[in-house]
Amino acid sequence: MKPIIFKTGQSEETSTLAMKVAALLKPGYVLTLEGDLGAGKTTFTKGLAKGLGIKRNVNSPTFTIIKEYTDGSLPLYHMDVYRLEDSDEDLGFDEYFNGNGVTVVEWAHHIEDQLPLKRLDIKIIRSGDDHREITFHPKGSEYVEMCKELSNESFSN
Ligand code: ADP
Ligand code: MG
Repeated sequence: MKPIIFKTGQSEETSTLAMKVAALLKPGYVLTLEGDLGAGKTTFTKGLAKGLGIKRNVNSPTFTIIKEYTDGSLPLYHMDVYRLEDSDEDLGFDEYFNGNGVTVVEWAHHIEDQLPLKRLDIKIIRSGDDHREITFHPKGSEYVEMCKELSNESFSN
């Protein structure tokens, strides 16, 4: 499947897109988020959390690497593996990927070898102060289906 591209013109739109994604998530789903600092990876994750009904404040887990939020409809495991560049450090990622929740990995390419093959890769590119181009690359049939549903929705893209 071709990647799908969404364009957002303010952070709230990125959050809304993420909330639509949240509605389609199932236990064991893995999403990766790539993009420069300030692209909107954490903004997207906050939208996911909101969509899952998580009330706790979600912020970048750079120093803790993994944060777990269990007060929503599905557990959310939020990883920021920026600090693990070129490291083979295994922090038990598989337990999260194979767990009952949804895992979101910021800077996922830093742990490329440890990522599951089936996943949704999301790339965010800054195309202006408040404009972002958000590309979804589904890997595996479940994620392809998910992307089809998203592209059928009337989200401006
Ligand atoms: P990252 O986690 O990728 O480093 P953050 O989500 O922490 O990025 O920061 C993104 C910043 O860009 C926030 O201050 C957010 O308000 C701002 N922003 C402006 N426009 C957008 C947009 N369309 N989508 C996402 N964030 C946006
Ligand atoms: Mg971040």
